Amino acid sequence: MSILVYIEHAEGAVKKSSLEAVSYGKALSDKLGGGDVVAVALGTIAEGELSKAGTAGASKVLHVNDDKLTAGIIQAHAEAVAQVYMKVGANTLVLAKSSLGDAVAARLAVKLNAGLVSNVVDLPDTSSGYQVKRSIYTGKAFAETTVSTEHKILAVKKNAVDLKTDGAEAAVETIDLSISDASFATNITLTDKATGDILLPEADIVVSGGRGLKGPENWGMIEGLAKELGAATGCSKPVSDIGWRPHHEHVGQTGVKVAPTLYVAVGISGAIQHLAGVNSSKYIVVINKDPEAPFFKAADYGIVGDAFEVLPKLTEAIKAIK
Ligand code: FAD
Repeated sequence: MSILVYIEHAEGAVKKSSLEAVSYGKALSDKLGGGDVVAVALGTIAEGELSKAGTAGASKVLHVNDDKLTAGIIQAHAEAVAQVYMKVGANTLVLAKSSLGDAVAARLAVKLNAGLVSNVVDLPDTSSGYQVKRSIYTGKAFAETTVSTEHKILAVKKNAVDLKTDGAEAAVETIDLSISDASFATNITLTDKATGDILLPEADIVVSGGRGLKGPENWGMIEGLAKELGAATGCSKPVSDIGWRPHHEHVGQTGVKVAPTLYVAVGISGAIQHLAGVNSSKYIVVINKDPEAPFFKAADYGIVGDAFEVLPKLTEAIKAIK
């Protein structure tokens, strides 16, 4: 039986979280004794992007190159993926947990009569049944979910699996599908582009500032460090509430949830509501002048110091290394 992996892309570039889903699919296939790992991507994608799915572990990549599918219209994506799933004769769909992924997966679960587990952090335990470990309560606990349906959908949490980079070249095959007009009834006419070149939810490195920065006029320090690191910028909730930064940069329980390899928090206290949005980060660096700031408990590395002294030095040091 094959495993199908649904690939998301942003502005033509395949998302890292989707490549992680491909690597998960490959590891799952190896665990279950082999079988094809087929990746499917919908809409217009930049040249060369789809070959990344091969190095991440896919044996084959199917591209539905229909421009109407480029915008993430949920119904149309669900219908397209369901058709491809039947075509390849898969019994498992793997995808990255994301807003679009969640919406598509829920519809597919109904269409395919499949059991769906979201926020998956590990390969299933198949020693007795099919038990899947998933992250719950914004990363504070794990739950084991037993899936007993023939068809299964697993939405993998960002940064939960290692990205495979040594897979073989995969053949990319373009396929045509007939998707009903009704699936395109929702018309996405405007997408809100975030400030900066790097989209915050997808960023591999994030530099975030809090109230400790004292005012919007000091944000050049955050942007300077972010530029040197190739990072997106974020902020705490009060910072966006006061209007120092736009709301789409607000990170936390009530804002954007990020899962970068590196999260740098500057002048942010580390309230639980902020941590809920960053605790999937691989490494956290905290810069705060208060050694008792709660964020230090969640940090991998901490600098106790005044942001106004530390940031310019850190930015210069990184510039010098480069
Ligand atoms: P502060 O708590 O004021 O902390 C500022 C920090 O900067 C302090 O630790 C201080 O030591 C440090 N500092 C000051 N000067 C300097 C300096 N010169 N150099 C270095 N460090 C310095 N918050 C979020 O961020 N995201 C959310 O999604 C979110 N959701 C919430 C939902 C609810 C229902 C509620 C009740 C609250 C929520 N909050 C959220 C707010 C949260 O509880 C905190 O109030 C908020 O995160 C604090 O922001 P802050 O750390 O920027 O500010």
